[in-house]
Amino acid sequence: MTWGSTHRIRGLRRAVAALVLCAGATATAQPASEGDVVAFVGARVLPMDREGELADHTVVVRGGRIAAVGPDGEVEVPADAHRIDAAGRWLMPGLAEMHGHVPGPDDAQYLEDVLFLYVSNGVTTVRNMAGHASHPDLRDRIAAGQVLGPQLTVATPWVTPERVPDAAAAEGAVAAARSAGFDLIKLGTVAPEVYPALAQAAHAADMPFGGHVPDGVGLVAALDARQSSIDHFDRYLEFLVPPDADTGERDPGFFGSAWVHLADPGRLPEALARTLAAGTWNVPTLSLVEHLASPESTEALIGRPEMRYMPRRVRDGWVRSRTEFAAREDFQPEAAQRLVALRRQMLKVLHDGGAPIALGSDAPQFFNVPGFSIHHELAMMVAAGLTPYEALVTGTRNPARMLGRPDDFGTIAPGRRADLILLEADPRADIAHLQRRAGVMVAGRWLPEADIQRRLAAIAARVEREDLSE
Ligand SMILES: [Zn+2]
Repeated sequence: MTWGSTHRIRGLRRAVAALVLCAGATATAQPASEGDVVAFVGARVLPMDREGELADHTVVVRGGRIAAVGPDGEVEVPADAHRIDAAGRWLMPGLAEMHGHVPGPDDAQYLEDVLFLYVSNGVTTVRNMAGHASHPDLRDRIAAGQVLGPQLTVATPWVTPERVPDAAAAEGAVAAARSAGFDLIKLGTVAPEVYPALAQAAHAADMPFGGHVPDGVGLVAALDARQSSIDHFDRYLEFLVPPDADTGERDPGFFGSAWVHLADPGRLPEALARTLAAGTWNVPTLSLVEHLASPESTEALIGRPEMRYMPRRVRDGWVRSRTEFAAREDFQPEAAQRLVALRRQMLKVLHDGGAPIALGSDAPQFFNVPGFSIHHELAMMVAAGLTPYEALVTGTRNPARMLGRPDDFGTIAPGRRADLILLEADPRADIAHLQRRAGVMVAGRWLPEADIQRRLAAIAARVEREDLSE
């Protein structure tokens, strides 16, 4: 079994070369080298390892990492530093999209755009949940500063019964994923009798495995197997349906949508206890379901300002999906609203009970424009009852814990990667303030907001030209 082919990898090399060549001065990533020194002076630092802010602070960045954090005047600003006036502004760690997607190499321009859309919104880490054979190489090039984009954690392509046909194939599949350079196993539709062997092989190889809970496995077995992450709250709603409920042989639908009337929220504490015992992370992707089930009209969703950055074929696909879902019985307004409310309740109960939660929106699925969608997801989390600070924790400190790299990113402290967002307003007061940016720093490279807007405008203009020429 293989996870890709060499000709695909060569295709990516060409695509990335083209990307760097055609990108122009603003787009070409410049590696943050030893000599690059940047100092944010006068900032209100939100370190995100605690709730408070550090007023009148200086943060010095050197070679892509945070070198020093301390009160203004106490931290020496090197004479050659590029000084950024952060007085009256808030400096926080970059955000992580823990269930995102990065396109394959076939359309180099779209790939470049998606990477930029993420970082333009302060998303500096993406757990890429639709792996392509070219993505480990792309991850390494981004990390080396050769391509501008969020740091990637790369999942394999979906595990399918073709890739892992039986229990005997599990160990080899995990080894092949590791040697192809992937960081985690993306579940997948593996057969229920194969699942335990795959879980065991992944644990033995110390390889995380997450995503969906395969059909027929169920929440209890996935948690018992200590699946690393469950995304989209997959199978939680089915768990809330009491075992003796009459489902009438009806398929559970989209994340349990067809069983929502049978779900008993009284079973949430048990779901919480089992999740805590397993240590499994949840990446709720509320927006994935809410964009199909919300009372907001399709016209309103497709009319959002950020849609201008998405190619028409992508936007058309989203509208088609929503039209199909709107015709389903389980997506009629009352049932759809119950589904949204129940998923928000799941988040609140799991979060408040201490279950580990990481931010993810599943961009670019269903009206989730990469980067921009993280703001909608955060707003939904706050609507579900999290405070803005708690929601921010799921997108900063928690993802670093989830990936086993708490000293690498997600907080502001010496040694952390210099992934930062400078804001004009306090995001703890209103989560929407995250969009009032003064700039984004990606692994030490500073992108002032004016440059970000210029480049976004160029993407929008190109997409519009392509729309007209179709
Ligand atoms: Zn996804």
